[in-house]
Amino acid sequence: MPLLPTLAQQRHPLAPGAAQRARLAEVPVGRRFEEALAGHGLWPLHATGIGVLQVNLGKRCNQACHHCHVDAGPARTEVMAPDTVDACLRVLAEHAIPVLDITGGAPELHPDFRRLVTTARGLGRRVIDRCNLTITQLPNYRYLPAFLAEHGVEVVASLPYYQARETDRQRGEGVFADSIAALQDLNAVGYGQPGSGLILNLVTNPVGAFLPPEQGAAEAEWKARLREEHGIVFTQLFTITNMPISRFLEHLEARGQTAAYLDRLVRAYNPAAAASVMCRDTLSVAWDGTLFDCDFNQMLDLPVDPTRPQTIHAFEAAALAGRPIVVGPHCFGCTAGAGSSCGGALAS
Ligand code: SF4
Ligand code: SF4
Repeated sequence: MPLLPTLAQQRHPLAPGAAQRARLAEVPVGRRFEEALAGHGLWPLHATGIGVLQVNLGKRCNQACHHCHVDAGPARTEVMAPDTVDACLRVLAEHAIPVLDITGGAPELHPDFRRLVTTARGLGRRVIDRCNLTITQLPNYRYLPAFLAEHGVEVVASLPYYQARETDRQRGEGVFADSIAALQDLNAVGYGQPGSGLILNLVTNPVGAFLPPEQGAAEAEWKARLREEHGIVFTQLFTITNMPISRFLEHLEARGQTAAYLDRLVRAYNPAAAASVMCRDTLSVAWDGTLFDCDFNQMLDLPVDPTRPQTIHAFEAAALAGRPIVVGPHCFGCTAGAGSSCGGALAS
């Protein structure tokens, strides 16, 4: 069973988004994100549609990882109210949005998690569960692998590394062992097995202030190591860049590395990745129903453009589908190198 985070790890909530934005704005980065986009004809940046409704069910989590960009943990109390869950389902029922992407915290802790999954699947939507793996090892949540398989939910599981030392350093002692047990449980019900149709993708981010490795090469290495050492199979590996916000921003600041890290992101700006940033196709719903272009903007308290509907209760497809995207210096995290998104790298 996963070790619960220490009291020291269950910290008070981070500074509000506005304070984080002010700190980021003071960092000399040499180039504004808007200028970088304009240099390649991408400014102003607009959404191209709503292909994914990403619903954040809240900040409760059984872990409290060092780099968590949503500042989640066991002591957090913010969870989506039932009428907001209803509003998300109503939007899915009334609009042809093909994908529901459920995230948190640990979204499976939410009492409406199963209702959200079964209703969205009943509507014929593709459903993604962003799972931290260890949740499946808690006594009340052992049902999850079979439930997710029964409903054909795609699992995107976070795992910092294929070895214990790096994973436990980022997520807490004992997390690696529980993550391996969880992956074996998912494999046992068919996840990641060729021909099963059950997708099990792993997502990894670096444990320090550097860009992730090349996704294809990393995937081959991870597949070989997890199979040889633990008999585990999975579908794809997504590599993502650490965003300079929330706990990772604190991590950088504590080490005096914020300017150097942002400079690294700016220098690695890739226009091909910029053209495909996930906010262009995704609408993000916060636990309180507020709409954002992405969950990074959620953490920075940057809701969708003020001329557009601000909450899921006021959803209007036409007004939101082509909205201007709200950007800031943190966006360089999405466009550095091969780019980064909830679905991994954006460009080669
Ligand atoms: S498991 Fe995910 S949501 Fe939970 S604390 Fe870790 S990074 Fe944050
Ligand atoms: S941080 Fe959000 S708004 Fe900025 S480029 Fe990335 S997905 Fe888009």
